[in-house]
Amino acid sequence: MPDQEITTEIQGDLSQLKSNQQVPILTYHHIWSDDDPCPLPAVAGKYCGHIRRSHFEQQMCYMAERGCVPITHRELVAWIVSNEPIPRRAVLIDFDDNRLNVFQNAFPILQEFGWPATVFVISSLAADGKSPWGISGTTSMNWRELDMVLNENWLVGAHTRTHPMLDELCADPDGLNKMKEEIVGSKTDIETNLGISVNHFAYPEGRGHLVAEHIVVEYFEGSRLWNPDGMPVYNNKHINRHRLVANNVSEITSEAEFSRLINGVSH
Ligand SMILES: [Zn+2]
Repeated sequence: MPDQEITTEIQGDLSQLKSNQQVPILTYHHIWSDDDPCPLPAVAGKYCGHIRRSHFEQQMCYMAERGCVPITHRELVAWIVSNEPIPRRAVLIDFDDNRLNVFQNAFPILQEFGWPATVFVISSLAADGKSPWGISGTTSMNWRELDMVLNENWLVGAHTRTHPMLDELCADPDGLNKMKEEIVGSKTDIETNLGISVNHFAYPEGRGHLVAEHIVVEYFEGSRLWNPDGMPVYNNKHINRHRLVANNVSEITSEAEFSRLINGVSH
């Protein structure tokens, strides 16, 4: 067989292998200090991304031991759209809702590893650093703190202005305008305050919606869903970049579950 044919055959195999790569997104909401009262789950499996700092650190150490390489949504979407290369064991670390305890507890740990993450920002919270939500109502990362994570190569994405359930807005006679204001408004708020371009979006509570998706597709390069139940789920080369899937990781994620999630990465 001529050399040329051998080369072509091998490249074909490699291309196939690469296209089968599966990339997990780990989604967290709160990284509590170990002496904080980390609220217990009401329903197992619906413990939405609350985790203690030491447990989060264990998970990051485990990923480092396994050779995982965190990337952000920018690299993930560039891989899907333009075939830009990503590491063989690429993983994404997402933080929704720009909680201040993420800045206080997760940021220093990720700095030690030199790892980036993606934070999806509710822009009204970044403006005043507060949170409207009861037991989860810790303060939020403001523009200054978001600027600091940007300097460590984190990616900042949009997560609406006030975190409404977008599907419920459809029942409102002025729902379409409100939806657009929430989605596009959050992008504009972040771009204005941080001086960056915002091209990635995460749906509030991970709940995708067809009408909202029309707006999102027009203004963003990629967007992410999320479901607190069921794991692991992975993104591959052929996934719709506007329906990226993510795993809920929390204090009650067992070592075995986390291992399964990370080691399910094919390579
Ligand atoms: Zn959220």
